Amino acid sequence: MSYDKNNIFAKILKGEANAEKVYENEHVLCFKDIFPKAKIHVLIIPKNQYSDIYEFSKNSSSKEKESIFSAFERLINIYKIEKSGCRIITNHGIDGRQEVPHLHFHLLAGQDIGRMTNN
Ligand code: AMP
Repeated sequence: MSYDKNNIFAKILKGEANAEKVYENEHVLCFKDIFPKAKIHVLIIPKNQYSDIYEFSKNSSSKEKESIFSAFERLINIYKIEKSGCRIITNHGIDGRQEVPHLHFHLLAGQDIGRMTNN
């Protein structure tokens, strides 16, 4: 998928739209989801332009990949959910029902998140 430079997360990264930042490192920004689906709902996004998990898997550097996992670790520490747990997911494309075309992971926590799918 070609990258849409005007998507809302691109605007957040450029400082043209607001977000409630929770954590950031050199390659990653983490902020609260505007329509939270759980008591804790944070979005984790790479700072560079990747439209989805496939583009990121193909084209990102080892350092960028490592930074995503480092951000997961830090968020788990920040929210003190090491024991209670969380769900981290990413939606990709039409079947995954991805709405914003900039790769993002959802971290959902703070309560029982329920079953994985409706099936
Ligand atoms: P997805 O369906 O995986 O693409 O999820 C997109 C997510 O982005 C949804 O959970 C939205 O609530 C969230 N979202 C959309 N716009 C904003 C925004 N301006 N700030 C924070 N979260 C947003």
